[in-house]
This record gives sequence, structure tokens and C-alpha cells, in this order.
Amino acid sequence: MEIYKENKLKVYNSLSKQKEDFKTITDGYVGMYVCGPTVYSNAHLGNVRTFMFFDVVYRYLLHLGYKVRYVRNITDAGHLENDADEGEDRIAKKARLEQIEPMEVVQRYTVDFHDVLKNYNFLPPSIEPTATGHIVEQIEMIKEIIEKGFAYEVNGSVYFDVLEYNKKEHYGILSGRKVEDLIHNTRSLDGQSDKKNPQDFALWKKADERHIMRWPSPWSDGFPGWHLECSVMSTKYLGEQFDIHGGGMDLKFPHHECEIAQSKTCSGKTPVNYWMHTNMLLLNSQKMAKSTGNFILPNEILSGKNNILPKAFSASVVRFFNMQANYRSILDFSGEALEASEKGHAKLMEAVNFLEKIEAGKTSTFDVQKWKKDCYAAMNDDFNTPMLIAHLFEAVKVINQIKEQKASLTADDLAELKTTIKALVFDVLGLMNENSQDNSEKIKGVVELLIKLRKEARENKDWALSDQIRDELIALGIQLKDGKEGTTFSVN
Ligand SMILES: [Zn+2]
Repeated sequence: MEIYKENKLKVYNSLSKQKEDFKTITDGYVGMYVCGPTVYSNAHLGNVRTFMFFDVVYRYLLHLGYKVRYVRNITDAGHLENDADEGEDRIAKKARLEQIEPMEVVQRYTVDFHDVLKNYNFLPPSIEPTATGHIVEQIEMIKEIIEKGFAYEVNGSVYFDVLEYNKKEHYGILSGRKVEDLIHNTRSLDGQSDKKNPQDFALWKKADERHIMRWPSPWSDGFPGWHLECSVMSTKYLGEQFDIHGGGMDLKFPHHECEIAQSKTCSGKTPVNYWMHTNMLLLNSQKMAKSTGNFILPNEILSGKNNILPKAFSASVVRFFNMQANYRSILDFSGEALEASEKGHAKLMEAVNFLEKIEAGKTSTFDVQKWKKDCYAAMNDDFNTPMLIAHLFEAVKVINQIKEQKASLTADDLAELKTTIKALVFDVLGLMNENSQDNSEKIKGVVELLIKLRKEARENKDWALSDQIRDELIALGIQLKDGKEGTTFSVN
């Protein structure tokens, strides 16, 4: 259903620094590009936060009835160590250190990335293009930028001429930085760089002898600059102008600033209508860093195999925790905060599951239509997930009151509540029902197996074992009841 027509979505645009009405270029269609990972190490929790938020954006846009083309790239070449056009390619460096092929590095960490996203219930993007799959297009774009007079070649490398661009356009439009203050590479000051000006950035880098990842080009055997791939792939799959471009806020400068300059040089048009940036993630109120040990991998949260958190947490709880914070605020990840979220998550799921058992009453003591409007209004206000969750808990309260027979809903209201809460919890927020029928079926199977083993123990007069099974089940909240027809059980 095309409910986007009645939902007036507002999006905070990093470009204008204010919330704007969301108007798509083509009615009913959204083109969205999000900068993906550089696959030279395991998926980073901070990046997972970013991708998880855009997963919810994608889910909500689909829920509103938009046709969305969601492009999220994989950077498998060209991303240098220090983002300043100097140093080694991150993937090539890892390959050299581990003495494996660069494409082995890429494969290993792409698989890891997809594994994490699958565990955390992400929807796959519509297209997931790679930098190495678009070398030809990148060379073409460099040629075009040179032709237009905004790039120059020195010793086989090609640089974007920022000062020339800034004469007629505004370099710094997104990050608010002034060109005079911008120095992309401090090392160039000591005369080590081929750049005309320190503000310039690389479009093509000549590969030195030890660099394994290299492609022929009109300028040298080399590789493309990191910023270029996103301009090329967003233009190729979404057009010269598209609706949403997202990423972590650390990408605003220089990466996204450079993207705008490259794309605008080629098309003459402003490439993106809404720039969206997620804030950073802290772990125990500090920056995550492998070197200090304040570090955790996304899959280690699920397995519990880490020194940071007191126990394992489910993917749905982590998702819920992420969505309790606004994406433009800093998110402070900690065991304590996750434990609080786990309680809230259990309460929400319990209420959602109890909905199935509710019988309709003659009257409604709760205004479901108003509540529904409030829920959508929260999401329409720049994807305000913490506000949405607050509204979901108003429904939880009512469901619990119905449980205690202190409230009631008519059949129509009950149906509306069920449909809405399920759509928002599962389709939009992407939470998973861990107490679902599936799991209770499994628990039933396991308990019946234990009942059978206990019966065998009793037949063998192994009273110690039979008592142990009964007592340990009681400790887990499962009560066995011996009767004429055999043993039954109840779960508290
Ligand atoms: Zn990018």
C-alpha cells in the first residue's frame, strides 16, 4: 500500500542542517546510497550501527510503499591507510602482512560482513557493487574530470584540483570547512607529494613495484582513489541525482565532500538531495580501540565470548538497544545498558505474543487510531525510533491491563493494534520474536525428551538422576506433573 502519500516524512539533511520535507525525485521511488565497508578486517560495531540505522530507513520506506533502490558498496580497493592519499592500500597491506592474495582478504571479510548482517536480521541492499568491479567506469570518470579542467596528472597519478573547483563551486558545502584551512595531507608540506596544493585529493594513484592490486590506465598502472568509487557507483545505479546518501558522520569530510565535487564536476548537477549521517558509537563511554582492549566484535556480543560484557545478548536485543537511541546522538554501548534493553525487549515481545490470546470486548478503553498516528508521526519525524519505542510501550501497558481485565478493545481496534504493532516491531524495526511459536515448539520437544529420559531413569531405579531432572527443570521454571496418563509439564 502506498501509505507514503499520507505520511509526511521529514528528514534531517546534513547539507542544510535542518529537517526538510522529504520529496522524492520520481514519485513513489527512492534512490538511496550508503557507503559500505572497506573489507580488510572484521565488521566494526560502529559501522554496524550505521548500517543498522539505514536498514531501518530502508525498511520504513518500503513499509510506506515506496519502491526503493538501495545501493551499498563494498570497498575492495583504493582505501589508503590514512584517508590522506598517502600510505598503503588497507587491503594490500593486510595481504602483505598475512602473505595472502588481496582478494583472499576481500573474500574473508566480505563473508564476515555478510555473516554479521544476517545474524542481525538486515535486509540485503538492492545492489552491492564493488570498487574492483567498476575500474573501467572510474577511469572514464577521471578522464571526464580532466577534460573539464578540474584534475591534473603528475608522475602517473591524477589529482582533483580543489582550488580550481572552488572558484565556481563551494568545496566544503557539506562539512562547513573553509578551503583555506583544508589540508588533506600534512606530509605534502615537506615536499613529498606530487600535488599542486595540499587540499587536492587523488583520483588515481600510480602503484609502486610492491603494490599487487593494479590496473592499466592512460596515466599508469595503478588504482583509483577511494572517494571516486562512490561517485561512480551511485551515478551508475541511481543516476546523476538521487534522493538519499548516507554514512557515518566521520565520512562527511573528506569522503562525502570529495564525492560531491567529483559528481558535480561531471554532471553539473547537485548529486544528492538528502545527506544523512549517523553519530558515533562508544563502548563503556570510551572510543573503541583494539589497542586499548576496549573493543568488541558484533558476533562476540551474540556468542558472549568477550571480556567486555557480562553475558551474551541476542541480536534482537542489540537491535532494540540501538533503536532506543536517536541516530544523530552518540550511542554508548555497555553491558548495563544492554541488560536494561533486554528487560524492555522481553516486555515488548511478551505483550506482542499475548495479543494472540486476547479476546475482543464490547468497548475500547484505548484510542488505537490516535496511538497509531503517534507511532507513524515518530517515524515521520526523521526516523525517531526512540519516540516510536516509547509509543509502542503505551500499547504494551494497555495489553497488560487487558491481561488483568482492567481494559478492553473492540474487535476492530484489536485487529488494528495487532497489525500495526507487528508491522512496526518486525517489518520496520526488524526485531525478532525470540519467544515465538517456533521456540516454544522446540522447548516442548526438549522437555518431552527429558520426561522420557526421567521415565527410563525411574524404570532403572536411578532415583538420583530422575530427581535431578525434575529439580533442574523446576529451577528453569518448568514444572513436571506426574499423573495417570503419564507426565505433563507447565512453564511458568
Ligand atoms: Zn562512499
